[in-house]
Amino acid sequence: MSISDIEFDRQHIWHPYTSMLNPLPAYKVESAKGCSLTFENGAEVIDGMSSWWAVIHGYRNSRLDSVAHGQIDKMSHVMFGGITHQPAIDLARRLINLTPAELERVFIADSGSVSVEVAIKMALQFWLAQERPEKHRLLTVKGGYHGDTFKAMSVCDPVNGMHHLFNKAINSQLFADAPTLTPNDEWTDDAGQQLRLWFEQFHGELAAVILEPIVQGAGGMRFYHPEYLRLIRKLCDDFNVLLIADEIATGFGRTGKLFACEHADVTPDILCVGKALTGGYMTLAATLTTKKVAETIGQGPGGGALMHGPTFMGNPLACAVAAESLA
Ligand SMILES: *Cc1c(COP(=O)(O)O)cnc(C)c1O
Repeated sequence: MSISDIEFDRQHIWHPYTSMLNPLPAYKVESAKGCSLTFENGAEVIDGMSSWWAVIHGYRNSRLDSVAHGQIDKMSHVMFGGITHQPAIDLARRLINLTPAELERVFIADSGSVSVEVAIKMALQFWLAQERPEKHRLLTVKGGYHGDTFKAMSVCDPVNGMHHLFNKAINSQLFADAPTLTPNDEWTDDAGQQLRLWFEQFHGELAAVILEPIVQGAGGMRFYHPEYLRLIRKLCDDFNVLLIADEIATGFGRTGKLFACEHADVTPDILCVGKALTGGYMTLAATLTTKKVAETIGQGPGGGALMHGPTFMGNPLACAVAAESLA
C-alpha cells in the first residue's frame, strides 16, 4: 500500500522543532516567485517571513538564477582544502568591502550555527595563543539566539532556549539581563550598570561577549537601544574582552542599515553573517575578523592553525550566488 507524499512526509521526515508524534501540518510548495509561494493545490500565499528572513531579493531572482546556472556549468563543488576558486575570492572581496575596514580576514562556513562555532573558536584560540587559557567563558544577554549546535546553544536564552533539555551537555555561560530600553527610549546610564559589574567581576575568565546587535530576532523580535551596544564595545575595550556580533539575522539591510552595528557605529572584533548572504538561495555563512585576531591566532599552538574545516566550506555554487547577491 502506497501512502500519499504528504502522509509519507508526516510519518518519516522531521521538520524544524517538531515531534514525530502528531507533528504540525506541513504544506507542500511547488514553486516560488517574487514574494509568493505556490502550493500543490494551486493556492498562492505571500511569504511574509521570506523563508526565515533570508530571501532578500525575492524568490527566483533572475540575476541570481542566471549566476547559479552559470556556476553549475563550471562546477557545483570542489573542496576548499589546498584549492581556491573565483567565487570564494569574489565573495570575500565583497564582504571585506561592505563590512567595517578592520574586518579583513574571512572564514567561509556552511551555516549560521557553524559560523558562530568558528567565531567562538577564534575567540578561544586568540586567548590560547597568548597563554591565557583561563579566558574561556562567554558573556551574552538573555533573550538571544545564536544557533542550534552545542556551543551556539550555550549562549541562547537560558529559559526559552534548549538548556533545560541538554543541561548536562552544555557548559554554562554568563547571562546578563536582556536590554530593556528600546531605540525610542531615553538612555539612562544605570541601564548598563549590571553589565559593568559583570565585566569587573568576570573579565579575567571572559574570552568574548556575543550578541545580536540591535535586534534579538528568533528570541522575540526585540529591538534595543544602540547605546547599549556602544557601552558593550567600550567595556570590551576597557576590560580586554573580544566582541562577537552575530549579524546572521540582522545583516544585509534587515534593520535599515546594511549591518545593525552601524546603528551604534560599533565595529566588532568578530562578525558572523549568514541567512540572507546568498539571497536565501542556499546555505552559506561567514565569520570575519580583524588582522590582529587572525595573526594572534596564527602565533598560537598547533602551528597557529584555526581548527575548523567543514567538507562543504566555501562551496563554489553558494559563493557565486552570494557574491552576486551582494553585487
Ligand atoms: C538563524 C540564526 C543563527 C543560526 O543560523 P543557521 O544557519 O540556522 O545555523 C544564528 N544566529 C542568529 C542570530 C540567527 O538568526
